[in-house]
Amino acid sequence: GAGDVHAEVVVLGSGPGGYTAAFRAADLGKKVVLIEKDSSLGGVCLNVGCIPSKALLHSAKVITEAEEMGDHGISFAKPEVDLAKLRDWKESVVNQLTGGLSGLAKARKVQVVKGFGSLVGPNMIEVDNDGAKSTVSFDQCVIAAGSEPVTLPFIPHDDPRVIDSTGALELEDVPERLLVLGGGIIGLEMATVYDALGSKVTIVEFMDQIIPGADKDVVKPLHKRIEGRYEAILTKTKVTAVNATDAGLEVTMEGPKGEVVDTFDKVLVAVGRRPNGGKVNAGAAGVAVDEHGFIAVDSQQRTGVSHIFAIGDVVGQPMLAHKAVHEGKVAAEVAAGHKRHFDARVIPSVAYTDPEVAWVGVTETQAKAEGMKVGKGVFPWAASGRSLSLGRSEGLTKLVFDEHERVIGAGIVGPNAGDLIAEVALAIEMGADAVDLGHTIHPHPTLSETVNFAAEMFEGTITDLM
Ligand code: FAD
Repeated sequence: GAGDVHAEVVVLGSGPGGYTAAFRAADLGKKVVLIEKDSSLGGVCLNVGCIPSKALLHSAKVITEAEEMGDHGISFAKPEVDLAKLRDWKESVVNQLTGGLSGLAKARKVQVVKGFGSLVGPNMIEVDNDGAKSTVSFDQCVIAAGSEPVTLPFIPHDDPRVIDSTGALELEDVPERLLVLGGGIIGLEMATVYDALGSKVTIVEFMDQIIPGADKDVVKPLHKRIEGRYEAILTKTKVTAVNATDAGLEVTMEGPKGEVVDTFDKVLVAVGRRPNGGKVNAGAAGVAVDEHGFIAVDSQQRTGVSHIFAIGDVVGQPMLAHKAVHEGKVAAEVAAGHKRHFDARVIPSVAYTDPEVAWVGVTETQAKAEGMKVGKGVFPWAASGRSLSLGRSEGLTKLVFDEHERVIGAGIVGPNAGDLIAEVALAIEMGADAVDLGHTIHPHPTLSETVNFAAEMFEGTITDLM
């Protein structure tokens, strides 16, 4: 029919994985079509994820820093927050990036087709744009359909006072009492924003610590700081019911102190993300999707059907933008005939809370659980001149070494930990050891020195019982 097109490589979904794959394939000479259901390119990360959250987190940081400058002899009045303007500013950051993507697509002659794409056969996608249907036939396909927030059956998600991360980023108002259900990265980042804006925040986490992926000692400085600011941090606690009443959302929780019922103005549900694999009708092309919605791939990002690739959140954990980008490059290069594999040793994770929590590679908890012989070097930031001059001393840099004294993991907590972790990721990729990190001259006084110092703190004792 009219509007039907053929692509050498079609990419389904324009998030960080999808646009990266599309651009890379085009740069390698392929005729590329990029299908996206939403009005702007960029997926979750640019529109309702990484970028808007970081824009708001910056404002949160300025507010809390201003509050704390009293000890330095500098006082500011209580900030006046113009929510509409803050929203506009956040949107302007998002629009600058998503608009930039459209320009980059045009420059590469990547054809963007708007609408919801479903596979209808091994070489065909049908696109539904508000009822107007067209098809894209393809030689090769990259599924980059991403993920969406998990909903829970006992929560009234249709009540406007129950929000997910997208709703939280909309910043409709500043609720007086906010319950954040889920103490993972997304929940805690949003909590950081709403706390700075004046909400009384309660965190509920099912596990025995917040940010369960990171080591407890690395999370502790964050826990300690927000414990002093938030109403409550309830670990080992689960929400069992949420009732919408005129007075608010009545939440039933079960924890170490038994059952507690409390009423909140808003509930942010941040209990994880579900992959969209089940929504693209992959079976029509012979591509298997598991019961969770994940699509299994090999190290070349190929699904069980060799000309169909999958990347990003839809293929598995960790659901992070930089992983999706890396996989997108691999898929595009393999599609263009290159010998490429996904062979990254590690993928760093960062919570952009205050302080930031970052970790990469093997954690101490994991080493213990797996009975690995490891050693560690730990440097407390209370001894870092740069950290003290920021008025912050709670940070920690920890390196984990294997029996050859090679660095295999790190956990860092403190301002800018997310930037600092990149050096350790590189060190792990390069097979660096304690001496490499200890003998590399770092600029003084910087927070980056803490990596250097942590390596020097390593005493060369490798044991299986740390
Ligand atoms: P997505 O970004 O999910 O994009 C998928 C795209 O496909 C979407 O645009 C969707 O509309 C489109 N699509 C889906 N199905 C179809 C279809 N059938 N037809 C047409 N289009 C379709 N990660 C980080 O690394 N750092 C962070 O700081 C960070 N912060 C986050 C904060 C929040 C609040 C959230 C929710 C996530 C955050 N993430 C962060 C995770 C990050 O956003 C995801 O890992 C990343 O977006 C995954 O990229 P992707 O390309 O796999 O898919």
